[in-house]
Amino acid sequence: MNIPFLDLKAQYQTIRQQVLRSVEQVLESCEFILGPNVSAFEQEIAKYLGVKHAIGVGNGTDALVLILDALGIGPGDEVITTPYTFFATAECVSRLGAKPVFVDIDPTTLTIDPKKLKQAITTRTKAVIPVHIFGRAAEMSAIMDIANRHGLFVVEDACQSMGAEIEGKKLGTFGNAGAFSFFPTKNLGAYGDGGLVVTDDDELAERVRMLRAHGSKVKYHNELIGYNSRLDEMQAAVLRVKLRYLNEWNSRRRQIALEYNKLLKDLPLQLPDPGDKGEHVFHLYTILTDNREELRVYLKSRGVETGVYYPTPLHLQPAYADLGYRKGDFPVSESACERNLSLPMYPELTDEQIHYVAQAVRVFFEERGA
Ligand SMILES: *Cc1c(COP(=O)(O)O)cnc(C)c1O
Repeated sequence: MNIPFLDLKAQYQTIRQQVLRSVEQVLESCEFILGPNVSAFEQEIAKYLGVKHAIGVGNGTDALVLILDALGIGPGDEVITTPYTFFATAECVSRLGAKPVFVDIDPTTLTIDPKKLKQAITTRTKAVIPVHIFGRAAEMSAIMDIANRHGLFVVEDACQSMGAEIEGKKLGTFGNAGAFSFFPTKNLGAYGDGGLVVTDDDELAERVRMLRAHGSKVKYHNELIGYNSRLDEMQAAVLRVKLRYLNEWNSRRRQIALEYNKLLKDLPLQLPDPGDKGEHVFHLYTILTDNREELRVYLKSRGVETGVYYPTPLHLQPAYADLGYRKGDFPVSESACERNLSLPMYPELTDEQIHYVAQAVRVFFEERGA
């Protein structure tokens, strides 16, 4: 059996008619930039997330950059995040001339370790960016406590966690602002690039709205040095269709993950921690194993595609050599980078496919006498 790591076509087939109709309406209307679909989508997703303002932007990276810019982060400032994330989480800090400062992750949740956060705070620290990695909630109550005590902004990188929640409150709405990505592979993915900023802060929302359109509220009247970074009207039309299925898709993802966890129990690997109800939407299903490379090759020979997220922690990336970090500085993140393996995960996976994948993993370890 061949099981792709991700099958976007399977999902497209289930919503094809509605997507084609919506995109055709955009083409017929010829309103391509900040048209009715973007404003409707912003309202619909704000309601979905339970947040006052949702602002559609060009992509998830820009969502982070625009938030930090609107908060006034710049040269001389430090922003804390983890090295176990996608490059953009730290890149946005550097882009504004500020300095990313890394803190190791918790070995269970793989999100920033609140116990280590305090030691990294200096007089220059302005903000912290917790990452809800793979769709798993970071420990927001502990993080918010520390941030409030030290007067730090909290910007949630929720690019992988659309729809996840802690006790009924959606991720992205705990801090000053949240950043989302609609990159096609994300759990709410567009058919191209897209991103979103959410916040309850009126002033911050207004600044982000201006920044995404050249720092202007009124056309050709520019109050700030901004960007050209808007959610595309065509993508907003697609996202409006997909948003109606998000809860259903997320619960299927969680169901698949719990099934994998059950089938892979007792093997010598670390299974993802699902947290309480809703705390993990499983954008990715990622295990940790000392036999990552061998397992990856074996699964490929059995027709099962896998992914590695991520092979290198950010403090060891060539672009960050000048920060002066060394191997050994963040052992939990480094070990996660050496041992992570993501199994196929998308709502359209069949029970038969899930069992096939799990059985293949099982056989790999059994053949090694585990
Ligand atoms: C995808 C992602 C981003 C960036 O989003 P883009 O839309 O690709 O720019 C940022 N942070 C994390 C954790 C991501 O997974």
